[in-house]
Amino acid sequence: MKCPVCGGEASATGKEWKFGQFDAKGYKCGSCAKSFSGYYKAGKLSHTVPKAK
Ligand SMILES: [Zn+2]
Repeated sequence: MKCPVCGGEASATGKEWKFGQFDAKGYKCGSCAKSFSGYYKAGKLSHTVPKAK
C-alpha cells in the first residue's frame, strides 16, 4: 500500500473491520509514521482516510 501522505511504503497493521459496504484495513507508513485506513469495496481499494493526530 502506498502512503497517501508521503508516497512511501505503508504496511498493514493487521487491524481489519467492516464499515458499511466497505472492508477497512489499518495501515502505518514506514517513512513518515502516519497511520491511515484503506477502504475496500468488492476487494478493490476505494479510498484511504488519514488518521487524525
Ligand atoms: Zn508516509
